[in-house]
Amino acid sequence: MEISVARKRLEEMRADLDRTVAVLTGEHPLARGGGAEPGDAGSNLTEADRNAASIQTAAAQRAEILAALARIDDGSYGKCVDCLGPVPEPRLEARPATARCVPCQSKRDRRRRLSGRPPANRGNDKLVAHRVIGAGP
Ligand SMILES: [Zn+2]
Repeated sequence: MEISVARKRLEEMRADLDRTVAVLTGEHPLARGGGAEPGDAGSNLTEADRNAASIQTAAAQRAEILAALARIDDGSYGKCVDCLGPVPEPRLEARPATARCVPCQSKRDRRRRLSGRPPANRGNDKLVAHRVIGAGP
């Protein structure tokens, strides 16, 4: 992938995330109106929890993208940050912000799992719970 294409895609992704975060933090018109009903404190709390988890995920993705843009600037984009080997083209196409080749990434993911912190999926349980609660009368 051309560096200029990678940069453009990363910048678009960053802009998308900025919009997402703006909506989640309530700095966007879409965040008002629609949504929780007045007086439904329990549901509001769940929503806030869910938003906090989503904001965290978005912030992590944004940091990854900024790091990738910085690697474009210093000329190391496309190299694995762990083993310094080339990251395969299809992987960069699929995930332009990726910092590692597949073996290094799976090593890292395994270490993370072993340390007992599942990556980013805990918010989904709350999301499902919220939907179930929301569907009631
Ligand atoms: Zn590597």
